[in-house]
Amino acid sequence: MTSRAALPLDRLRQIVGKENVLTQPEDLIPYSFDGTAALQQMPGCVVFTSDSEQIATILRLANELRVGVVTRGSGTGLSGGSLPSSGCIVLCTVKMSRILELDKANLTMLVEPGVTTLAIADAATAAGLFYPPDPGSMKISTIGGNVAENSGGLRGLKYGVTRNYVMGLEVVLPTGELMWLGNKCVKDVAGYSLKDVFVGSEGTLGIITKVLLRLIPKPAAKKTMVATFAQMDQAAEAVSAIIAAQIIPCTLEFLDRTTIHSVEAYAKIGLPLNCEALLLMETDGHPAVVTEEAAQMEKICRDLGCLEVRVAKDDAEAARLASARRSAFSALARVAPTTILEDATVPRSELAKMIRFVEAIAKKYRLRIGTFGHMGDGNLHPTFLTDERKTEEMHRVEEAFKEIFDEAIRLGGTITGEHGIGLAKKSFLPKFAGEAQMRVMRELRRALDPNGILNPGKMFDMPTLACEKKASA
Ligand SMILES: Cc1cc2nc3c(=O)[nH]c(=O)nc-3n(C[C@H](O)[C@H](O)[C@H](O)COP(=O)(O)OP(=O)(O)OC[C@H]3O[C@@H](n4cnc5c(N)ncnc54)[C@H](O)[C@@H]3O)c2cc1C
Repeated sequence: MTSRAALPLDRLRQIVGKENVLTQPEDLIPYSFDGTAALQQMPGCVVFTSDSEQIATILRLANELRVGVVTRGSGTGLSGGSLPSSGCIVLCTVKMSRILELDKANLTMLVEPGVTTLAIADAATAAGLFYPPDPGSMKISTIGGNVAENSGGLRGLKYGVTRNYVMGLEVVLPTGELMWLGNKCVKDVAGYSLKDVFVGSEGTLGIITKVLLRLIPKPAAKKTMVATFAQMDQAAEAVSAIIAAQIIPCTLEFLDRTTIHSVEAYAKIGLPLNCEALLLMETDGHPAVVTEEAAQMEKICRDLGCLEVRVAKDDAEAARLASARRSAFSALARVAPTTILEDATVPRSELAKMIRFVEAIAKKYRLRIGTFGHMGDGNLHPTFLTDERKTEEMHRVEEAFKEIFDEAIRLGGTITGEHGIGLAKKSFLPKFAGEAQMRVMRELRRALDPNGILNPGKMFDMPTLACEKKASA
């Protein structure tokens, strides 16, 4: 463990100004957890940076003293990625929130890492352009966090995830070296694509200090619909049938009965309550294509015996229906003291099987699970409504998780579709990745961060920091 005494507080105050270094316990508490349930750890201090040079100086210092550094955006992560290691420096990027350039000739935007996803989407819209990745947390999540987690969103089915929009990155390595990776060229195959190594690296390889984003033309039209089903299986079948009909809507999200009732109690949207499952479907693009795709999706749902299809009459109604999905996590979080949200993901052809499996697991372990998610991506969010103070119940939750992840792997899926490994899924990674992949990941990390100062203990274990050994001796 890094002891507080080992932290170079005076040097940090010189680098970023004393008002940008927090050390009092009451100031540190809000940075001792992220969006992940049941995980908390006090940092040694929190430092707010304002440019790449400050970050480079801090990392050089931390590397020299072997002090752990945990990068933090808004702390909305759901795998414990920005959870501090004991006594470390939390390096928070939220004050680096400038949009540096919007290049309409090349359709790119250059931003600092602390800009929120919503600010990026709004700036693109104001310029008549479109930035598609829209994680449910987009009002507050930062682009640095989005890149580090390779975040998805509600439009991932048609438009892909954050990685698909990253053209360039400025990164500070743990040794303090600054690197620029990528550029505004649509094509570039010079050397290894190192930029892609940093996308999804969860703050373990370097700190992202600038992001060059790809923008695309704004779709001319959009239609939003909600279909309800008496059985969960029918909704899963409707998703498979829509994809099999070669329709790729921009959004194909689902909510189960528990989630629908929680959302309605929370947001009072006027959702139908007499159903087991609800599909939120959005198609966008050329007006003629939108009309045709919407009609086809409606027909598929009706042919499968859905209870009702509601088509939004205007933008306001579309936004209200979409908010049913956007508020799902917050709504479920009100139902029980502890909400543990997972993101097991399977090939779309296996969706119905996976949903049935989650239902069976809830029964087997006598647990309450609300499931919602990016159904069109095969990305489910089984959400355990539990209470971390009940030890025996938490044990059942853990066992249930293990079975769900095992089943996802057995069906050809993955243990995380978008939330990352962090601390929460660290123990499941070796089984999923296998020995060779684990070895290559460890060697890559050692090459970039020889002293293991960045995000220690996350994703997989590396040798203990020298000062941690000293503190625990
Ligand atoms: C209500 C809710 C809805 C959500 N919906 C979605 C969703 O639809 N899709 C999805 O993918 N996720 C979703 N998430 C998870 C989360 O919002 C994303 O992972 C998001 O990208 C995290 O951004 P952040 O700024 O909060 O990052 P943090 O939580 O602060 O950090 C996340 C990770 O990134 C690292 N990091 C942060 N900034 C940098 C940087 N500049 N350089 C290097 N590493 C960095 C941190 O060390 C940490 O490992 C949701 C979370 C909540 C609470």
